[in-house]
Amino acid sequence: MAVLYDRVALIGLGLIAGSMSLAMRAGGLAGETVGYARSPETRAAARQIGLVDRVAESAAEAVAGADLVVLAVPVGVMGAVAAEIAPHLKPGATVTDVGSVKQAVIEAVAPHIPAGVHFVPGHPLAGTEHSGPHSGFAALFRNRWWLLTPPEGTDPEATARLAALIRAMGANVEDMDAAHHDLVLAVTSHTPHLIAYTMVGVADHLKRVTESEVIKYSAAGFRDFTRIAASDPTMWRDVFLQNKEAVLDILGRFTEELFMLQRAIRMGDGAQLHDYFTRTRAIRRGII
Ligand code: NAD
Repeated sequence: MAVLYDRVALIGLGLIAGSMSLAMRAGGLAGETVGYARSPETRAAARQIGLVDRVAESAAEAVAGADLVVLAVPVGVMGAVAAEIAPHLKPGATVTDVGSVKQAVIEAVAPHIPAGVHFVPGHPLAGTEHSGPHSGFAALFRNRWWLLTPPEGTDPEATARLAALIRAMGANVEDMDAAHHDLVLAVTSHTPHLIAYTMVGVADHLKRVTESEVIKYSAAGFRDFTRIAASDPTMWRDVFLQNKEAVLDILGRFTEELFMLQRAIRMGDGAQLHDYFTRTRAIRRGII
């Protein structure tokens, strides 16, 4: 495949940045990938496993001369990283991010982007419960959605070139309004993660059921919860703090439905439970 960017800088060397580098290198999509992460241990690990073509010793060094800069750090530090790299960005370069929340990241990053540099925010809907430099793999984005949320006035050519790179990594691209993105993700990802964390927390606190019993007799439902609840605590702390309004909206609705089901169980209202589960099954069948 053709080289789409001569030099790509990846800030953060975890699951998403690592997978991007591996996918770009596998497809010959970048002339060079340069990576930087804050911790020296992460940089050493990335260097040892050859995650990127070159590991830089500072964010400034990583972005120097880069045609595409990818911010792949927790959403709570996106603004600080943008401020750090801003003076070193190449005129005409594109900056994108992969944060799971879009409005807060745009608010934090956009003010730091110098004139003549394009900012095209994005979010790959692909991930695993693993994190860090060893967790990436080239096929992560294959057949997954990657949402771009360019604010009005974003250069269409910069957006189109980034979309071409994303497609070349195997993902499907769609544009979406940032506020709508945050609501959709609150329903499809953020609140489900919170529920998983809660359910695993409940099992932990339930003293009448031992930890070894929870592990030994984990049925599929709980097993899925534990997998999700093993996700990176820093990333998810930031997601909830940065997508507060949408998550609280969905959580409020969730709590109401839960109370309704709780009441139906208490009252022995089998018809209501059956109706509810019939509707939810139809939604699931629509997904497959
Ligand atoms: P990760 O924990 O695997 O990697 C994060 C990397 O950022 C680490 O290398 C860490 O050293 C580095 N880092 C943290 N603070 C830094 C700073 N101030 N300066 C430089 N480097 C710093 O996380 P990830 O899963 O790759 O997530 C990265 C971003 O992608 C997050 O914004 C997350 O919301 C988003 N995202 C994650 C998933 C997922 O499922 N994991 C999916 C889509 C998007």
